[in-house]
Amino acid sequence: MKVLICDATAQAALDMISEAGIEVVNKPDITPEELLEEIAEYDAMVVRSRTKVRKPVIDAATKLKAIVRGGVGLDNIDVKYAGTKGIQVLNTPSASTAAVAELAIGYIFALARNIPQMTTSMGDGEWAKKSFSGTEIAGKVLGLVGIGRIGQSTGQKANALGMTAIAYDPFVDEADGIELVESLNDLLARADYISLHVPYTKETHNILDANAFAKMKDGVNIINCGRGGTIDEDALFDAIKSGKVAGAALDVYTEEPSMGHKLYTLDQVIGSPHIGAGTVEAKARVGTEVAKNVINALKG
Ligand code: NAD
Repeated sequence: MKVLICDATAQAALDMISEAGIEVVNKPDITPEELLEEIAEYDAMVVRSRTKVRKPVIDAATKLKAIVRGGVGLDNIDVKYAGTKGIQVLNTPSASTAAVAELAIGYIFALARNIPQMTTSMGDGEWAKKSFSGTEIAGKVLGLVGIGRIGQSTGQKANALGMTAIAYDPFVDEADGIELVESLNDLLARADYISLHVPYTKETHNILDANAFAKMKDGVNIINCGRGGTIDEDALFDAIKSGKVAGAALDVYTEEPSMGHKLYTLDQVIGSPHIGAGTVEAKARVGTEVAKNVINALKG
């Protein structure tokens, strides 16, 4: 039995799979063309978000029993079509929860105290003590759009820091210690910080658009460590320019990779290149779960 590793995966995971008697072929930079040519040889494949597994790959994968995604989002895989071919699609849903929630909390602090902007200023040789005035996060309302694993974890950490976490999620009836609001409009009207933790779907496409920004409190801060495509980025740009939005912290973008994004011409925007799950601990957990998924799928 053979598994193809298509995206960077922890060595410990590859060792676990080999020790279970499954041959591991590690090609973390495989191109779409190479993947199409080679996939017929494999019983399982491991991907993160880089490798796209659509109909042509699935059609070519005549022996494939499992597609294992290290991470949560399955938007790079045609899950329905894989199902019609009897191919299991497995992910590692909980492994990155703490890492993403901690990044979202880190961004709340960074936005409140202008930490990245002050670092840049110090690097420029300035001592701009009077230019930077921060705010405290205690007593502020954090509005969570989506209250699944990461939304819950972010909300609980925020509550522990003295914030009041509220959430909008039409698919959830109860959230531990977090008030659920009736509608997105309720959340927009009350939140000082809005943090997105929803998958990208037809309903969440540009869920924060110009109309939504108009309903927010003046000086609101926006955080997106969820999925790209959930914020209308042009509308966010305008809302920052107009002063409606005080700042935004982004880990995910409508188009990725995103280089030279116009939002980064604004001092109020801080962010990262989709590294929400990029902690040592989360990578290790993802690796272990990936290995278990491959072994279970191929060896029962
Ligand atoms: P989850 O499935 O546990 O939670 C998602 C929640 O969104 C669910 O409770 C669901 O009911 C809710 N939801 C769906 N549609 C909605 C809508 N229209 N309005 C409001 N709520 C809606 O997922 P999770 O593990 O909490 O992950 C949340 C997001 O974070 C996912 O999109 C995932 O891909 C992303 N993520 C990002 C990174 C990163 O590196 N930045 C890492 C891991 C996960």
